[in-house]
Amino acid sequence: LFGNEEHKIVMVGLDNAGKTTILYQFLMNEVVHTSPTIGSNVEEVVWKNIHFIMWDLGGQQSLRAAWSTYYTNTEFIIMVIDSTDRERLSVIREELYSMLNHEELSKANVLVYANKQDLKGSMSAAEISRQLDLTSIKKHQWHIQSCCALTGEGLYQGLEWIVGRLK
Ligand code: GDP
Repeated sequence: LFGNEEHKIVMVGLDNAGKTTILYQFLMNEVVHTSPTIGSNVEEVVWKNIHFIMWDLGGQQSLRAAWSTYYTNTEFIIMVIDSTDRERLSVIREELYSMLNHEELSKANVLVYANKQDLKGSMSAAEISRQLDLTSIKKHQWHIQSCCALTGEGLYQGLEWIVGRLK
């Protein structure tokens, strides 16, 4: 799927968004190497030749400075959103643009997973896209994919978008 090159994907989102669930769907039946000790609240999972680095946004300010140390050579940002969490969408928006403005992420593409589409009252991908003002992003390629991490629905389409953009 990803060829032989090494790739690095940073996966972020608020706590409870579904990051861990998504990762486990990707890694099902695979032997995975994890090194949960690379940093406080930062998890690294190596799957085949893909390095996933993952952390919760919106946590303590004191941890933020450390995040940028993981940005180097990141090709993709996966932003996972709990589509029922309307209150915190503005936090996501702020974090997303702050990441995109970071020099080390200037070449990174962004995949947004609008997760938990199975839940009543979840915002659609179109609504989230509007709230996050995704069309204003011009310097990065971006894509929003609705999904349900519990069943895996939509996850593969998101990965395919990434694979189609690998250099
Ligand atoms: P993380 O904090 O971002 O890693 O989130 P988790 O993967 O731990 O998921 C948080 C909670 O949301 C767990 O109880 C998951 O089972 C649940 N969850 C994740 N994805 C979905 C989904 O698509 N639909 C529903 N209904 N629940 C989900």
